[in-house]
Amino acid sequence: MRIAIVGLGVAGSYLAYQLRDQHKVVAFDKLPASKFDAVCAWGTSKDGIAKFAKDCGLNFDDYIMHNGERMLVDIGKETFDIPLKGLVCFDKLKFIQDSADKPETHFGSWVNRSNFKNDFDMVVDATGLSRPLLPRIHGDKLIPCVQYKVKYKDPPFDDFYIKPFDDLSGYFWYFPLGNGYAHVGAGDYNKRHNEFLYRFLKEHDGQVISKTGRPIRITPPAMCEPFFEGNVIGVGESIGTVYPLLGEGIIPSLQCASFFKDYIENMNAYRAQVLQHFKIYETVYKFIKTKIDGKFDMKTQFFGLMSMFFHMRFNEKRYGLQIRLSDMLKVLRA
Ligand SMILES: Cc1cc2nc3c(=O)[nH]c(=O)nc-3n(C[C@H](O)[C@H](O)[C@H](O)COP(=O)(O)OP(=O)(O)OC[C@H]3O[C@@H](n4cnc5c(N)ncnc54)[C@H](O)[C@@H]3O)c2cc1C
Repeated sequence: MRIAIVGLGVAGSYLAYQLRDQHKVVAFDKLPASKFDAVCAWGTSKDGIAKFAKDCGLNFDDYIMHNGERMLVDIGKETFDIPLKGLVCFDKLKFIQDSADKPETHFGSWVNRSNFKNDFDMVVDATGLSRPLLPRIHGDKLIPCVQYKVKYKDPPFDDFYIKPFDDLSGYFWYFPLGNGYAHVGAGDYNKRHNEFLYRFLKEHDGQVISKTGRPIRITPPAMCEPFFEGNVIGVGESIGTVYPLLGEGIIPSLQCASFFKDYIENMNAYRAQVLQHFKIYETVYKFIKTKIDGKFDMKTQFFGLMSMFFHMRFNEKRYGLQIRLSDMLKVLRA
């Protein structure tokens, strides 16, 4: 088949590599090659991502920039440590570039419905947030985010640090990148992130190398339908593969791309697999939404809390964190 992949983030690059031998793949990305970037804090779980790296002939260890041991969680009145189980920061940009080095690629091609010549057998919309080739999502929930890359002489933290905002509407993060560099960012549905970042950067002297940002979609796949229309099929964050509690989308988007590869002959089976695998995201999303909307009540949300807890507890290595109910309750009650 002739397959167009629009968007060369983690999902599109992985797919481009996976499909290149059996199909004629042509890839497009809006960014020019010289300005290509991976807007993200670059945190992931090494156990969760290793398989996908291997699928692309890469050794994930070669991309690790910081191996985490603990995450400091600041809830205002106290701070506590979450022991880590494989959470790392990695060079996501190089990872993407190395996994996508095969297909014919058109950088600097900003695709939309009117300018795209759809003469392919299949078109994959792997554009993350924008999904220009698929219908708009009604009630799409987006968390605005801003992030700085900062170089410190004297880093304020030596490991992962996060500060959740009230109502679980987002959080501030400090993700170390090694050699004094860090991604310092924040996202907040209630838009307090810029003010918080400004104060942090003022308090902790460092050299700002760059500033980026874009919103994260936390609407789960079940609410991002349709996944396909005509010969266009959505993969990755374009169809909501982001874990709503954490804004974690790298591994889920790779997983989604892998499902696409497995079910390429049957898009109904692809849809069913995505809905089934990411079912828990809908529960977590509804839980978070009641907090954000100020409608949270522990009695009615107990099922949601326990579902989220058991899901993460049984997948600790996948998330790279030790999961304790007491930690979750501390954050909820803060
Ligand atoms: C600030 C921030 C920090 C984050 N930190 C983390 C983290 O630490 N860990 C984690 O797991 N997740 C994180 N995420 C989420 C994660 O980055 C995404 O969910 C994940 O990268 C989605 O992958 P994707 O391939 O589906 O889309 P993307 O990575 O968004 O890639 C989409 C690609 O499509 C291209 N594109 C977009 N529109 C068009 C168009 N119209 N035409 C052509 N090309 C287009 C873009 O240039 C981009 O290259 C973060 C997100 C943000 C915004």
